[in-house]
Amino acid sequence: MSSPEEHEEEESIIDLSSDLFMMSQAMRQAQNAYLDEEVPIGAVIVFEGRIIARAHNQVETLKDATAHAEMLALTQAQSAMGDWRLNDCDLYVTKEPCPMCAGAIVHCRIKRVIFGCIDDKGGACGGFINLLQQPTLNHQSEVTHGVLGDESKMLIQTFFAEAREKKKRAAKRGPDQSPYLN
Ligand SMILES: [Zn+2]
Repeated sequence: MSSPEEHEEEESIIDLSSDLFMMSQAMRQAQNAYLDEEVPIGAVIVFEGRIIARAHNQVETLKDATAHAEMLALTQAQSAMGDWRLNDCDLYVTKEPCPMCAGAIVHCRIKRVIFGCIDDKGGACGGFINLLQQPTLNHQSEVTHGVLGDESKMLIQTFFAEAREKKKRAAKRGPDQSPYLN
């Protein structure tokens, strides 16, 4: 018989196929975006318990408004599978996908979408509208939300608070003053 201590240790072993583990991998991608001064959103796509795509938002870096984490991850996953049909793949993303990404998710036929924080203004997976479960479209994805939602929301809020602060400081310096002349 195992002692209570041993039992506790057993339970703390990370389940590598759990939603929590996969979302923590998406959070790593979001942190990479943050370090690149991009809105910190990350995504991974999983097939049979294996991550086949990892991406983070690269809108500023690529100067491409469509370079959302989900879009980049979908392209990688289609390439990894050698097929545009991703019926047996799950997509983990740190924030609720927008209408563009939700549209792409339906086109690629992703089986399940797991996201962190809800976007009640622009989210297209139930937050604002629900494009993933439209009965009139030819594919519907299962949806799970709230996995590491608070962590994801906090990272995004920190990013925007810092961006506002930077803008304020730049405005204070004035347009004619180069920071190098002080
Ligand atoms: Zn998007």
